[in-house]
Amino acid sequence: MPVDDIKVAQKSLLDWFNSNKRDLAWRKTNDPYKIWVSEIMLQQTRVDQATPYYHRFIKRFPDVYELAKAPQDDLLKIWEGLGYYSRARNMQFAANQIVEDFGGKFPDSEKDVRSLKGIGPYTSAAILSIAFGKPFAVVDGNVIRVLSRLAGIEEDVRKKEVIKQIQHLADEFLNHDNPGDHNQAVMELGATICTPKNPKCHSCPLQLQCTATKLIKTDTIPYKSPAKKRPHKHIGVGVIVDDENRLLIAKRPNDVMLGGLWEFPGGKKENDESIEQTITRELEEELGVTVETGGKITEIKHAYSHFTITLHAYYCRITDGEPLAKSSQEIRWVNRKELQDFPFPKANKQLTELLVE
Ligand code: SF4
Repeated sequence: MPVDDIKVAQKSLLDWFNSNKRDLAWRKTNDPYKIWVSEIMLQQTRVDQATPYYHRFIKRFPDVYELAKAPQDDLLKIWEGLGYYSRARNMQFAANQIVEDFGGKFPDSEKDVRSLKGIGPYTSAAILSIAFGKPFAVVDGNVIRVLSRLAGIEEDVRKKEVIKQIQHLADEFLNHDNPGDHNQAVMELGATICTPKNPKCHSCPLQLQCTATKLIKTDTIPYKSPAKKRPHKHIGVGVIVDDENRLLIAKRPNDVMLGGLWEFPGGKKENDESIEQTITRELEEELGVTVETGGKITEIKHAYSHFTITLHAYYCRITDGEPLAKSSQEIRWVNRKELQDFPFPKANKQLTELLVE
């Protein structure tokens, strides 16, 4: 785009943003800590879903010191249901880095921000531009859609080289006088006007400069090659009940998916096994006990980003051995009401709700 057109487009975009932006809690602050929290929460998560979590999180952990010293169970309980739990664990790690390496003050250079755990190019650019007014252009899903349509990029946006091309465009298009609002404006446009289906081009401040709308190609740009089909796994879990009617739960190791969350022990069904055999084998491996399975409690389906599961839950009773935390951080016997105090991943959470009832 010629420089003059870029300037016109930047101004139309900012004017539109100033009159149309949604009233979001994290837009009322320049505090880099709060902007960081919102940006991490908004990854892979819709605004309406993230908003109540954001309020609860800021209330419980109002600054980096509170987050750094929080017990992990408290942190994951606040995050429960939001998914991608490594985000929360990484934030706590980064909060400790900020306390120890930067005296509790959020760093304001790209090098230092990128040294924080869990902060990649997108989050770094968002914090530096929004909180500190520094000229870094963000590229997320919304920006990819807006800029690929604006420039008429027809190649597959799943390809790395195409993303690089879009990052280059975003850098060129960035308004250096107000990079924070400019970045938010492009993302806002993608979220509310330049939507994946039926973009509202007639209300768009970039309509005059937009290639996709001129060529009537908004249906085919951006092009995404089909995603691979997600594999499906059957998971057998054992709800072990003891003589006092307490249930056994285990805390997942920190370095695995859903790390730090609690669950009922169990695992993936192998090809020739029945689900009862899976549970018996898994509980032997994970806890060192022999169990006998009893009645089936429920079946729960759940989708993760790379696979889907059916969780099959059965009551169990230990017939031999004392349970040990062989493949978890910790195990605990709890009564049914206490289950609500622990952070569980979604499918297990549904199971706890059934058990509490
Ligand atoms: S004119 Fe339409 S396709 Fe182009 S950026 Fe605006 S909303 Fe998107």
